[in-house]
Amino acid sequence: AVVVLRLGHRPGRDERMTTHVGLTARALGADRVLLPDNAGQSLETVADITDRFGGPFEVELTDSPYGVVRGWDGVVVHLTMYGERVQDVEADIRSAHFETGKPLLIVVGAEKVPFDVYEEADWNVGVTNQPHSEVASLAVFLDRLFEGRELECEWEDAEKRVFPTETGKRVESVSEE
Ligand code: SAM
Repeated sequence: AVVVLRLGHRPGRDERMTTHVGLTARALGADRVLLPDNAGQSLETVADITDRFGGPFEVELTDSPYGVVRGWDGVVVHLTMYGERVQDVEADIRSAHFETGKPLLIVVGAEKVPFDVYEEADWNVGVTNQPHSEVASLAVFLDRLFEGRELECEWEDAEKRVFPTETGKRVESVSEE
């Protein structure tokens, strides 16, 4: 399993970013996102999108995000501008996850991330060493991890399906059999 953990959430100010971490995790192939327990509004939005556009995908709140990192029985990747270059470590991370079947936890921050997380992580990974965004770094990292296969995902139990078109919008309701 690939699980994304969002560390830190300032209610109001971070609502869209936290929601977008969840939506990006879902769209780009992660199995689950864990959000801080004050991010209930973001959880609702991500759950609602999953109901409408399909899964499988899980969104959960955790009252102990740092406990999740410390107790993770598997591989921990922390995305940070200070980390090693993604292009240098992606192959090792893929082996550590896919070849062993160990679950992969991908940690992204909001504000300053405590140093403990840098120490607990098996890899601190930078998507460039420039400051940008948790949503952008998560998207690029997932695409590198899955080597593009996430773009072929099939969605189950969707109410709606979007058909790609050159112009305009084509959305159809999926009839239940
Ligand atoms: N200086 C802050 C710190 O302590 O890491 C950056 C906060 S940044 C607004 C929020 C999150 O975006 C970070 O915790 C990290 O997960 C992600 N992020 C920002 N730039 C990144 C980069 N170049 N590579 C990987 N992740 C990045």
